[in-house]
Amino acid sequence: MPLEPAPERGFRRVMHCDLDCFFAAVEELDNPRLRGKPVIVGGDPDRRGVVSTANYAARRFGVHSAMSGAVARRLCPGGIFLRPRFDRYRELSRAVMAIVDDFCEVREQVSIDEAYGELPPGVVGCTPAQTIATRLKARVLEETGLVISVGVGRNKSIAKLASDLSKPDGLLVVKPGAETEFLRPLPVGRLNGVGPHTREKLRAMGITTVGDLASRDGGELAAALGKHGAWLWHLARGQDDRPVIADHGPPKSVSCEDTFERDIADLDRAAEQVSRLGAEVAARVAQKRLVGRSVTLKVRWSDFRIMTRQQPLAQLTAEAEPIVAAALDLLTCEIGPLLAVGGALRLLGVGLHNIESLDAPAWAPVESASGYIQLPLFDVDEMRTA
Ligand SMILES: [Mg+2]
Repeated sequence: MPLEPAPERGFRRVMHCDLDCFFAAVEELDNPRLRGKPVIVGGDPDRRGVVSTANYAARRFGVHSAMSGAVARRLCPGGIFLRPRFDRYRELSRAVMAIVDDFCEVREQVSIDEAYGELPPGVVGCTPAQTIATRLKARVLEETGLVISVGVGRNKSIAKLASDLSKPDGLLVVKPGAETEFLRPLPVGRLNGVGPHTREKLRAMGITTVGDLASRDGGELAAALGKHGAWLWHLARGQDDRPVIADHGPPKSVSCEDTFERDIADLDRAAEQVSRLGAEVAARVAQKRLVGRSVTLKVRWSDFRIMTRQQPLAQLTAEAEPIVAAALDLLTCEIGPLLAVGGALRLLGVGLHNIESLDAPAWAPVESASGYIQLPLFDVDEMRTA
């Protein structure tokens, strides 16, 4: 039975942003002497470590992600082998994602160096998307020193293919209506989800290009490869209805506030409330396994004016003591003098800001005790284009 075409949402412009050779690029950025040399970041080759990222100079020797470090060293004996510095990568990843946020409505981060973005609804046609992608690339380079490839298309699959195909330093906008022309000549292995195994099966069916796949009967694909076959058939026809879903990352802040039945005009009573609110904030962040780096005190005066004051903390914390101490400091120094001259408070709030999660994000590479590098969210095909 022929498959129904995938339901298409309204007109969309999806952007796929992917940093080029991210880990290796950061190492080159932080150590200019490495530039132009083959740089390979990964586990210890002597302890069966695996390559996380190789820069383009190393790729010329045939080194690629997910390859064993020992093989990489054989291929590229003059290569510079470095252990990953995940804290630094996360720091730069955050900076890049914050820039991506400025250019799209919704951003979905899919790995430490890769995100989809939904462009604002006003962006139609080719030129505005091209302009957005150009500006985004320029800002990432200017503010972080890193090179990011950007692809834009009507859905996630096309956007990702566009960024992959235009790497390094890529920028490719697939115009609305040009999807078929764009997809047809590509080797079928380019489609996300076609690994060596599926590619072999498709080849046996006489399918080597995306165009071959698209021209077949969808039912035939479903019969041969099940659900996965049907999905690939839709991708080959430029159909991909997956939405861009905003990250469920840690909240930006956690706060507690109270409006009082009767205004508070007395510093000691305000301090009592601030201590209670601060302790409550601490309990909430600890329960969510979060830590924060700055404390805010918010007040609303009896005339409804709002004032917010912020104080940094010495270190990331979820402890009540430093949170309460910082909030009380702010109260005494900033609010106290105004209470002393007759001010009265309707509301007090304490917040913890610059929040980070204690749990590693789902996409973060994890280094295991054995020295292997595990990249949970990448499959081998994806890593090759990392
Ligand atoms: Mg990448």
